[in-house]
Amino acid sequence: MFDKIVIANRGEIALRILRACRELGVKVVAVHSEADRNLKHVRLADESVCIGPAASVDSYLNIPAIISAAEVTDAEAIHPGYGFLAENADFSEKVKQSGFVFIGPNADTIRLMGDKISAKKAMQKAGIPCVPGNGDPLTDDPKKNLKLAQEIGYPVIIKAAGGGGGRGMRTVHTEAALLNAIAMTKAEAATAFGNSTVYMEKFLEDPRHIEFQVMADSHGNAIHLGERDCSMQRRHQKVVEEAPAPGITEEQRKFIGERCAKACVDIGYLGAGTFEFLYEKGEFYFIEMNTRVQVEHPVTEMVTGFDIVKEQLRIAAGEKLSITQDQVKLQGHAIECRLNAEDPKSFMPSPGTIEQFHMPGGPGIRCETHIYNGYKVPPYYDSMIGKLIAHGEDRKSAIARMNTALSEIIIEGIKTNIPLQHEIMNDSAFQTGGQNIHYLEKKLGLY
Ligand code: ADP
Repeated sequence: MFDKIVIANRGEIALRILRACRELGVKVVAVHSEADRNLKHVRLADESVCIGPAASVDSYLNIPAIISAAEVTDAEAIHPGYGFLAENADFSEKVKQSGFVFIGPNADTIRLMGDKISAKKAMQKAGIPCVPGNGDPLTDDPKKNLKLAQEIGYPVIIKAAGGGGGRGMRTVHTEAALLNAIAMTKAEAATAFGNSTVYMEKFLEDPRHIEFQVMADSHGNAIHLGERDCSMQRRHQKVVEEAPAPGITEEQRKFIGERCAKACVDIGYLGAGTFEFLYEKGEFYFIEMNTRVQVEHPVTEMVTGFDIVKEQLRIAAGEKLSITQDQVKLQGHAIECRLNAEDPKSFMPSPGTIEQFHMPGGPGIRCETHIYNGYKVPPYYDSMIGKLIAHGEDRKSAIARMNTALSEIIIEGIKTNIPLQHEIMNDSAFQTGGQNIHYLEKKLGLY
């Protein structure tokens, strides 16, 4: 195991990684921006290094500053967390070239999965079900494109190979709109991602979002840890996540999960990863792979009893996976509510000082947050200030525990989305389970 690592992130995930390091006896170097001197994990770390001004481009995205922090503190590895540089292939490469271990997959894998066309091709080859549409780059031949759309069947979606964060996509409902839509998506993709390559696939109208967690080591072993349902979304941002996904059978889990694990072996995947699928009418369709730890990893940890972050560290240190597929057993149900510093109605960010914070508790409750009394939520970063996770013997009990926790938690001084989360937990359709990705926006009158 490593002696010392750098955590190249902030907020709740930096604290989560620090806790895993503590358990494994690994020393922690926190790197932080000028605005983040008072972050909880910075205060708890063995060493800390200020890597630049508040703006992310000058600090958390500043590759040379992060690598020199690892050099001056004599650390051995760098954990990127999620967001920021976590899926940046150049970062993974530079970390390695500078003599450090990147806690995540190698640059080639990040690149392969970061391009939607190469990812889709690799997944088709590995036997993972993909959205109808061959995934070939679209040519400038209008006849070919019209024919392809006809074969797939409208509605279709035009997607940029280099797209991300929900951008670079356009839905087309009629033949009359197709050619113009292709031209526009290409032009936008060229400006936004520096790559004008686009492809076409079937647009699924009412899917659920279901994703599979995988872990792979450097000895050719890979497992899956079951699935999560993340269909409660607003503007492609997940709001509530749960594991397992309501209504998914053990057979479906085994079928898709085993294919995901096998795909990891095929592509030489290393560490924790997530295969995201759209799920409609009983079928799974791969959309993308996230090559990092996810915000929602705790729901999987709660139902499997397996520590994903500790395992990331072990795998990066060259150890074999600590469990085999038959040792993965799902127990009960877990739900996660993301806690955001925002107005629950207008969704405007609400930074400011936490005047009072009271953490909820009780059986099955886990609160992942870096906030504390007097902590000032800065305006520069994502508005997520923590996550509340409830585990119960079944879905009903997890919801009941979440409801209790949401009524116990006190966060004063800033606005939060706690009222919205309460509303979701008490929504009868949510309680039934299995709603599609448009449900929340429809409920909020946004779709
Ligand atoms: P990004 O990398 O930008 O997040 P994804 O491929 O993961 O792109 O897609 C983001 C979201 O766009 C999905 O969660 C889904 O809501 C929608 N989407 C993508 N592809 C399709 C499709 N073929 N049919 C319907 N919706 C889609």
